[in-house]
Amino acid sequence: MQNKQENSKTCPYAKKCGGCDYQGVPYEEQLAKKQAYMKKLMKPFGKVNPIVGMKDPLHYRHKVQAAFDCTRKGQVVAGVYEKNSHDVVDIEKCLIENEEADAIIRDIKNLLRSFRIKTYDEDTGYGLLRHVLVRKGYHSGQIMVVLVLASPILPSKNNFVKALRKNHPEISTVVINVNDRRTSMVLGDRNITVYGKGYIEDKLCGCTFRISPSSFYQVNPEQTELLYQKAIACAGLTGKETVIDAYCGTGTIGLIASRFAKNVMGVELNQDAIKDAITNAKRNDIHNIRFYHGDAGEFMVNMAEKGEKADVVIMDPPRTGSDEAFLSSIIKLSPKRIVYVSCGPDTLARDLKYLTGHGYRMTECTPYDMFPFTRHVENVVALSKNVKKS
Ligand code: SAH
Repeated sequence: MQNKQENSKTCPYAKKCGGCDYQGVPYEEQLAKKQAYMKKLMKPFGKVNPIVGMKDPLHYRHKVQAAFDCTRKGQVVAGVYEKNSHDVVDIEKCLIENEEADAIIRDIKNLLRSFRIKTYDEDTGYGLLRHVLVRKGYHSGQIMVVLVLASPILPSKNNFVKALRKNHPEISTVVINVNDRRTSMVLGDRNITVYGKGYIEDKLCGCTFRISPSSFYQVNPEQTELLYQKAIACAGLTGKETVIDAYCGTGTIGLIASRFAKNVMGVELNQDAIKDAITNAKRNDIHNIRFYHGDAGEFMVNMAEKGEKADVVIMDPPRTGSDEAFLSSIIKLSPKRIVYVSCGPDTLARDLKYLTGHGYRMTECTPYDMFPFTRHVENVVALSKNVKKS
């Protein structure tokens, strides 16, 4: 249920945090701004459907990350870095973060004193706890807590987990992530499971996905489910198609599409994501999908050179968009349909200019509000060969 009172509240941390561009702007107005922006940007290509907003735009972030620090007076603080600095803004409750995740972070803050655990000091390199990351499965309700430490040893770790789970029995796994480098990157390379399986699972669009501490997984699952459904609908699958899922991450879109296609090829640059994708295929008993580790552009060039064919290309590149190698190979592969999922409107417009200049027409564009209170807007665009402009 939408909490109107809370929705119109301004955030007490807004000035220092800077995470929300539209803080204090009524939600309907935020949606109208995003709609107008997309309408203007997409004008050369066709009409834009009404933006899909959230019924309740608060507390949608199912991944919450807090940096830990200590004030001069010795008080533990946890939250985000102040804009353009490395001072931590102490955030007790955030209007867009999952409330249970915030409560867990508050409790960790309180437990540190009794367990004599020191926060890490970036200047001296002294201390232990750097960050806490909490991730909650939307349908499964499973919760993962990742404690990012400067060294692998957490004193009295079993008692610490016990004390934390006493207040939050819903926590299903606790992982220590070791980050001993002087870096602004949150996570290090090594994970040590101290409670549970070391990962959580969640269900989206009928498939089960494994989420490890460093896996990419959309932060707004409610909207992600709608967005993926739209992407699959735009692909127009009948069970006979060969589909490419480019920039596939942990294989989410391709795995969901595989149920409606003949076969799917997923390609992704990040090796850990590909490992997760292969695990996810097995976990869902899906056999008509193959995952390839590598650059999506090179993969497409290779396919085009070999004269291979694809009926549908689904692409979900990072904010920087795609590249010419990829786009020119799509033209050679000549799929019937292209589904472009984009988190960067400007690069989407740039890439659409190329595709529509080479024989494709935009048939549909639907914006999704994946990140309420921020200026970001995600889009699902369908393109077809040789059809009239919408
Ligand atoms: N479709 C996925 C992930 C989208 S995020 C999902 O919905 O969960 C974009 C992905 O593109 C990231 O996983 C990133 O690692 C990957 N990526 C970035 N550059 C790439 C490239 N040149 N080739 C292939 N994948 C790339």
